[in-house]
Amino acid sequence: MTATTTPADIPATVARLRASFATGRTKPLAWRQEQLAALRALLTEQSDAFLEALHADLGKSAAEAYRTEVGFTVNELDHTVAHLEEWLAPTPAGVPGVFHPAEAKVVRDPLGVVLIIGPWNYPLQLLLAPLVGALAAGNTAVVKPSELAPQTSAALARLLPRYLGPEVVRVVEGGIPETTTLLEQRFDHIFYTGNGTVGRIVMAAAAKHLTPVTLELGGKSPVVVEPGADLAVTAQRLAQGKFLNAGQTCVAPDYVLAIGETAAALEPHLAAAVRELFGEDPRTAPYGRIVNERHFDRLASLLDDGRVVTGGEHDRNSRYLAPTVLADVSPDAPVMQAEIFGPILPIVAVPDLDAAIAFINERDKPLALYAFTASDRTKARLTEETSSGALSFGLPVSHLAMPELPFGGVGESGMGRYHGAYSIDTFSHAKAVVDKPLG
Ligand code: NAD
Repeated sequence: MTATTTPADIPATVARLRASFATGRTKPLAWRQEQLAALRALLTEQSDAFLEALHADLGKSAAEAYRTEVGFTVNELDHTVAHLEEWLAPTPAGVPGVFHPAEAKVVRDPLGVVLIIGPWNYPLQLLLAPLVGALAAGNTAVVKPSELAPQTSAALARLLPRYLGPEVVRVVEGGIPETTTLLEQRFDHIFYTGNGTVGRIVMAAAAKHLTPVTLELGGKSPVVVEPGADLAVTAQRLAQGKFLNAGQTCVAPDYVLAIGETAAALEPHLAAAVRELFGEDPRTAPYGRIVNERHFDRLASLLDDGRVVTGGEHDRNSRYLAPTVLADVSPDAPVMQAEIFGPILPIVAVPDLDAAIAFINERDKPLALYAFTASDRTKARLTEETSSGALSFGLPVSHLAMPELPFGGVGESGMGRYHGAYSIDTFSHAKAVVDKPLG
């Protein structure tokens, strides 16, 4: 069915996966490793088809698409395969003296049928990296790619069933009608990546069945830059993280909180970093395009919210928006209200670290907080005095590619976490087992 799955087919699709789970076939380690091997074969044998689709949807260069989508997912998968037996081993637990003699342990039960709903910005990675965890934990799954990345969605619907059977994973393509029907079904876990408005719809639908959810959402991820930081290095790493996928990355640096003199001092360094990364005309460099005209128009309307330090050029026909840095940006400007999700980096000046921390804490808890500082005291203060999905000093975005770290948000940036062993926690139930001899 896959590409032609209609809302009417959905209940039968889910029922088939549930019947398959009920046979118990998904529980042995060997079954899980087999599915992961099949998923790996899909990624490696069909890599070219996926890279082509990602280029068509988002203008991603083959190198970037491999690194951030196909290769990323293969690394996540390999890390999981290498550790799975160890992660699934029952964990012994201590027993208080009053219950002796007795033994206790924690075993990880698969949940059943899980639903994974992906977004358009990393349409392969953000659908299949959660699937690695779902299969490794012994579940069957429905995966729903984003309709806003239609070529990638179609490639997944066409190719995935050649590797993973319909009793293991089903791809359901579609937009709101299909997702609405999916959300009416009972799943054992729903894993959603996207925006908070839809996150609320997902959670409300899940509540009807008491289904647990993981919500991987977004928001504005700030970057604190403090005097004393090496501004050339800061600008280079900032530009790399910000302009990856033309700024359409959930953990992209959203805006800079520049302390004191760094506001002005950072400007030439950022302009130079953009030139170094993309040359004089980024249009001809390996550099992404905005996903669609609606997002393009939204972003173009933000270009007047500050003084253009570099960039600003845009072309609606090709959905090209140059890597852009805006200075002298007011906290009240529209560009500072919602997640930018595009290649525009505003610089907001703040007098000192106290003001920067207050600025962060007055707003929604971000998915990531970044800081460039030479001060251990500042690192300690940011660690203790702020809350965010992740905190990284000196290196934006890359924490996501460290499989031993949990990936997820807090507050408005989401709930739950995954990657590596954290995905096993997400897609399993930790069952307490006690055994006291009868004698
Ligand atoms: P999107 O528009 O592709 O939507 C995500 C999914 O929600 C899609 O599969 C879509 O079909 C579904 N959907 C849309 N409207 C729906 C509705 N009314 N009912 C049910 N389902 C619906 O992607 P998006 O939300 O524009 O993605 C961008 C957002 O996602 C940003 O906020 C970004 O920060 C966030 N994001 C977070 C992460 C993360 O890992 N935390 C990763 C990527 C993106």
